[in-house]
Amino acid sequence: MFITRFAPSPTGPLHLGHAYSAMLAHDRAEAERGTFLLRIDDLDRSRCRAEWEVQIFDDLAWLGLTWPKPVMRQSERLPVYRSALAGLWEMGLLYPCHCSRADIRAAAYAPQEGAALHGPDGLIYPGTCRPATPPAGPVPDHAALRLDMARALATLDEPPEFFEQGRKIIPDNMVQTVGDVVLARRDMGASYHLAVVLDDAEQKISHVIRGADLLEATQIHVLLQRLLRLPTPVYHHHVLIRDENGKRLAKRDDARAIATYRAEGRSPRDIRRMVGL
Ligand code: GLU
Repeated sequence: MFITRFAPSPTGPLHLGHAYSAMLAHDRAEAERGTFLLRIDDLDRSRCRAEWEVQIFDDLAWLGLTWPKPVMRQSERLPVYRSALAGLWEMGLLYPCHCSRADIRAAAYAPQEGAALHGPDGLIYPGTCRPATPPAGPVPDHAALRLDMARALATLDEPPEFFEQGRKIIPDNMVQTVGDVVLARRDMGASYHLAVVLDDAEQKISHVIRGADLLEATQIHVLLQRLLRLPTPVYHHHVLIRDENGKRLAKRDDARAIATYRAEGRSPRDIRRMVGL
């Protein structure tokens, strides 16, 4: 059964890049006689707005897309995320981290550390709060929790490999290139990486179709699927739609918002043509 999804965060207007991603997934599901789901990635309550969510539904419907209702919302799934965290904590794979961004920057750029390295989430965590042995006791409630990458990889028999458009990708040296990623943010109770993996599993997503900007994060998602004993979907990371200067479109890029094109009297067919579909 082919099931795919489009999972926008309601933190701004949908632009041409989102339209491309959503239409590509929708077209593919139609061609495969499968299902296209819409999911609202609204974990970061401080940045999400109800009016952006309304606009997302409206723009996608205007583009001619349909999806089953009601839609899944991350903000309603915190207990699921917390219970997965409890499992990883029991396995001794998590530790609380009290570093601020400034602390991490200072430690990563300290002279004895050599060159500061960047991974999918920015600066690789220099390990300041990593304990020598897994912490005991219950999962702390209001702390950021990091995955001990070396320990996590040591529990697997093989690296977290996956298929990207038919090509097998075998992640290499994730301790150095990814490091101890955050699985629970202090303010949100979970992080994007954990939520996306649990949501895709809950929705039985067989094919993840999303932008190439997330390809680097996929090894983290597959690692979490292995640790949590969840299936790994097939991945397709598509090219990003860029402006005429080759710059990636951003949420604040109002000029390319679907709402702006609609207001100018363009049609869904025009939008398809603009993104090359
Ligand atoms: N909500 C994420 C975003 O807007 C997409 C997550 C995903 O497709 O895995 O970038």
